[in-house]
Amino acid sequence: MIESGDGVHLVDVDGTRYLDGVSSLWCNVHGHKKKSIDQAIQKQLEKIAHATFLGLTHPPAIELAEKLVDIAPKGLERVFFSDNGSTAVEVALKMAFQYWQQLGRHQKVKFITCAGGYHGDTLGAVGVGGIDLFHTTFKQLLFQTIRFPNTYAYRCDQTSVLEECGAHVIEEVEGILKTHGHEVAGLIIEPIMQGAGGMILQPPGFLTSLRTLCDKYNVLLIADEVMTGFGRTGKMFACDHEEVTPDLMALSKGLSGGYLPLAATLATNKIYEAFLGEISEQKTFFHGHTFTANPLSCAAALASLKAMERDKVLEKLSPKVHWFGNALQEFYKIRQVGDIRMIGMAAGIELVQDGATKEPFAPEMRMGHRVAEEARARGAIIRPLGDVVVLMPPLTISMNDFKRLVRIVQESIEAAVSSIN
Ligand code: PLP
Repeated sequence: MIESGDGVHLVDVDGTRYLDGVSSLWCNVHGHKKKSIDQAIQKQLEKIAHATFLGLTHPPAIELAEKLVDIAPKGLERVFFSDNGSTAVEVALKMAFQYWQQLGRHQKVKFITCAGGYHGDTLGAVGVGGIDLFHTTFKQLLFQTIRFPNTYAYRCDQTSVLEECGAHVIEEVEGILKTHGHEVAGLIIEPIMQGAGGMILQPPGFLTSLRTLCDKYNVLLIADEVMTGFGRTGKMFACDHEEVTPDLMALSKGLSGGYLPLAATLATNKIYEAFLGEISEQKTFFHGHTFTANPLSCAAALASLKAMERDKVLEKLSPKVHWFGNALQEFYKIRQVGDIRMIGMAAGIELVQDGATKEPFAPEMRMGHRVAEEARARGAIIRPLGDVVVLMPPLTISMNDFKRLVRIVQESIEAAVSSIN
C-alpha cells in the first residue's frame, strides 16, 4: 500500500521505501513530488479544478496545445485533448476513419496493425491490439484489422538479426498494402519500441519505411507514442529518431509528467481541414469526455514540459543511457537471460530456461513475477511483462539510484532463477 512518494522513491504505509523501477507504469518523468509541478497544480487549484472543455476552453489548455505543436514532429499542428492513452488512440482511430469518409473514400474502413501491439484497453484500442492473451476474449466485439508481424528478432522464423527481421516485416507490410491499401484507413504502430508486447525494438529505418509505404499506398500513419513520448527513448518523441512525421500521434502517460490523467491526439492540418464545413454538412468529430483537457492536468503538463527544458532532462540523459546499455550487458552472464532490448531509459530483459536453447519458462512458473517479488524484498518496485523484466525508471533518476536499481534487478533475477534449480 503506497502512501507517499518523493523523488524516485515510493513509500508504503509502513514507511518502507522502494525505488520506482517502472515509473509508476511508465509515466513518471521527474520523480514524485516535483516541486514545480506540485506548485503549478496548487496555483491552478486556486482558480478552478475543472470546467468542461466542450464548447469552452481555458488558458492552460491553450498554452499546452501551443507547446505541444512546438515540440512535436514538424507538421503536427492540431491538438485534440482527452484523458488517457486508450482514449488518445480511440480518437486517432476515429479521426482516421472519419477523415476518409469525409473525403468520399467510403471503402477505406480497415486498419493495419502490428502483432504484439498494445494500444489500450477500450474496445477500439483492443481492436488494433495484437496481444492474444489480452485481446482474444473480445474478438467478436472487434472491428476488422489486418495484422503484420512485429520485429521480434529473438524469435523471428527467418533471422535473428534485427535489421534483416525488420526488412522481412517491411516486405510483408508492402504486400498487405498492395492488396488492401484501397480499403485501409490507417496503419498504427508503437514507433521504435513496442511496449507491452515485450519491449520489442525496431531496427533503424523501420519507421521511415513505414512512412514511405503509407504515403505510397495512401494510408494514414498513426504513431502511438503513449509509452515512448516525452523522453523515454532518449529523444522527446520516438518519431524524432528518424525525423518522421506521422499523420496522427497519440500521447498520454508522460504528458503530465505522470502526475494526472491527460492525453492528446495530434494531427496534421490535412486531417483537420477534412473536418471543416457548414453545420449542415455534419463534419463534426463527435468525441468528448467529461474530463477532457482537465485544467489541473494541463497545468501539470505545462510545468512538466517547462521542467524538462529548465532541468535539461533530455540533454542529461545521454551518459545515463550509455551506462545503462553497458550495465545491462552484464546480465548476459546469467544463463537464463535470453535477450536484452533497450533504448533510452526503457529496457526489457527476456528470461528463458536456457539462453542457449531459448526455451521459455512454463507460464505457471511465473518467473517474471518471481523476479518482481525478489526486487520488492530488496527495495524496488518493478512490473514484468510475462517473463520479460521491464526497467523504466523516471528519467531524472540519479546515477547512484540507477546503479542501485540495476543491481537489485540483477540480484533479483539471480535469486529467482536459482530458487527453481
Ligand atoms: N498505448 C501504449 C503504447 C501504451 O503503452 C498504453 C499503456 O500502457 C496505452 C496506449 C494505453 O494507455 P492508458 O493505460 O492510459 O489507457
